Amino acid sequence: MVETSVGALYGVGAARMRAFAKLGVHTVEDLLHHYPRAYEYRGDVKLLRDCSAEGKSAVILTVATAPRVHMIKRGMSLLKFRATEDGTGDVCEITYFNQNYLKDAFSVGMCCRFFGKVEKKGGYTMGSPAYEEIVEGHEDELPPLLPVYPATEGLSQKQIAASAQMALRMALTDAEAMADPLPEALRHERGLCLYSYALRNIHRPTDTQALAAAKKRLVYDELYLFALGLATTRSHTKSATAPACTKADISPLTALLPYTLTGAQSRAIEEIRREMMTDVPMSRMLVGDVGCGKTVCAAAAMLFAVQSGYQAALMAPTEILARQHYAELSELFAKLNISCALLIGATTAAKKRDIRAALASGALDVVIGTQALLSDGVEFANSALMVTDEQHRFGVGQRATLSEKNRYAHLLVMSATPIPRSLALGLYGDLDISRIDEMPPGRQVVDTFVVDESYRARLNAFIAKQVAAGGQVYVVCPAIEEREAVADDMEADVYLEDISLRESVHPVPADDRPPLKNAMAHTEYLRDALPDIPVACLHGKMKAAEKEAIMQAFVRGETKVLVSTTVIEVGVNVPSATLMIVENAERFGLSQLHQLRGRVGRGKAKSYCVLVGGERLGETAKQRLQVMHTQHDGFEIAQRDLLLRGPGDFLRGTDNGDGIRQSGGIHFRLADGCDDAELLEIAMQDARMLIERDPQLLSVPALRRRMERMFTPSKGTLN
Ligand code: ADP
Ligand code: MG
Repeated sequence: MVETSVGALYGVGAARMRAFAKLGVHTVEDLLHHYPRAYEYRGDVKLLRDCSAEGKSAVILTVATAPRVHMIKRGMSLLKFRATEDGTGDVCEITYFNQNYLKDAFSVGMCCRFFGKVEKKGGYTMGSPAYEEIVEGHEDELPPLLPVYPATEGLSQKQIAASAQMALRMALTDAEAMADPLPEALRHERGLCLYSYALRNIHRPTDTQALAAAKKRLVYDELYLFALGLATTRSHTKSATAPACTKADISPLTALLPYTLTGAQSRAIEEIRREMMTDVPMSRMLVGDVGCGKTVCAAAAMLFAVQSGYQAALMAPTEILARQHYAELSELFAKLNISCALLIGATTAAKKRDIRAALASGALDVVIGTQALLSDGVEFANSALMVTDEQHRFGVGQRATLSEKNRYAHLLVMSATPIPRSLALGLYGDLDISRIDEMPPGRQVVDTFVVDESYRARLNAFIAKQVAAGGQVYVVCPAIEEREAVADDMEADVYLEDISLRESVHPVPADDRPPLKNAMAHTEYLRDALPDIPVACLHGKMKAAEKEAIMQAFVRGETKVLVSTTVIEVGVNVPSATLMIVENAERFGLSQLHQLRGRVGRGKAKSYCVLVGGERLGETAKQRLQVMHTQHDGFEIAQRDLLLRGPGDFLRGTDNGDGIRQSGGIHFRLADGCDDAELLEIAMQDARMLIERDPQLLSVPALRRRMERMFTPSKGTLN
């Protein structure tokens, strides 16, 4: 059953199959694991007269007049009917805009739970409410929480929900599909609900407690499977050998540098050198706070490879960062007679072909790029080293591809976010760590303040003052445009990320979340507020060339204020930037804020960071941001983040700041929003114990099968 195509489900034809495929759902089992991303709370049924004018309410009404279609204008129509409320006799006019096909969905006497905004204009009206029919005498059976699925064109929420229910019914009769992948004893020990219970309640929760239990169970499963997968993929990369870089010598590099290496840099480089000189593959993470000078250590490692006659590659998570590395390193490498090329998505096809040929023939020493380096066709003649920058921002799947491609080479992973120990162990297992715990001399502390909207005028004056003094300003916003519309016409009430695993759930109306500052509108606002100052806007959805031009104008100092999404987060270096403003700072992880703050204070001038909280910032959110005021050590901040926010931030691949996940292969469906660090650690531990006992997972076939599927996403099969 598990391999059965979704096409076997009633109502799923070729078109819907294609739509499902876009969501990564090919088989019935895929659909079982296509979890809702949020839930709408409709359990609180009100009387029309008690509905507030704000937000959405659930009411139970009986259709009183037959629906009629009114043409308003060419191509625009309004479907209208009246419905009455039992008991009060109150009447509500219900309208649907451009949804004529609903004409046949309603008939006089039909009773429905409507969910939407109830307005009182003379009488009551509801525009385009969601509805569910109530079959006589079965009022209590309507679920209080309605799933909101990740959706796509050609599939409505209702269709996905109905298909998921069918898939569940099908699965529940199939012993193999429902076989609990977790050993019974382990499930009990960890206080987790049954697999079948979890699946039923994630798709159609009977109440919020059941949902929390289901979520906990499925998050645990994901983490456990993930840890198992890592452990098994790791074990087969271990035995390989790497080219020994026996001619490694740092002196040509140090002779070129305008500064002396810090003690910590020298130590790290020596650790790297010693390992690269042997044929045992290096697997090393270089951790150091923003600005500590990791790049030069990577340059040294690449030099070692090339000196010994091999090639090296450096991979960065964003194009901007790859370009910046290239600009900096190619200059340095030119002086060392090392050839170097940039390979990113934007590279022209002809150029890519040349680079690939040069890599394959061995004519090219070093290549710097993005994930494009991992794509098919990129082969090295004799690669000895792969360096990745800001590794934790790559998806886990990419990491797997990376080590696969890199099987015979040394690996150096650079990270500015010190991954907390427990996580590093789980994620990287046997990765050795070099820590750069010393800053180059003369670095300043960036004074950090947490403010709210009432400071807006003063903040604008502060921007003007910084610019007048020759400084430049970054303004980071969490969103590009208006908040992404939720699929269909539903605004979800309960976001999965809001559901704590530890407490029962209190639905949070979507409207109570502070509005997000969006980069484009905020740019306009600042241009109005500061008419004499050149303000530019940069976001991830722009074309690479456009981004580059805007960034360059800022680097040259022509633009004074740069409003952006977090595309600027990693790496970029503009020494005259003296002020970093983060809007809706509560939306960011502390480590991310620390990274952002690292963009300023790179020159001599005193620098500042201002975190602007949304209007209705809660106490905990405020406290969390205050950590940034007192703490300037990235490692401490990461620990606090883990305590306060949980491991989700470290686990997820990168969110490139525009909400676009650069996921690679594996994605966590639930653990992404996981707020339970303890659960993660437990799952990782449990997985390690099982692997020690049964490395091939022979004793747990259901588990093995699920794990393999997690690491090889299904491509779909025919019935
Ligand atoms: P990160 O570790 O955040 O990647 P970078 O490698 O970009 O930091 O280095 C930040 C800046 O510090 C660069 O401009 C670099 O040239 C400079 N730098 C690196 N090492 C030293 C040093 N030992 N002394 C002075 N400046 C240094
Ligand atoms: Mg860097």
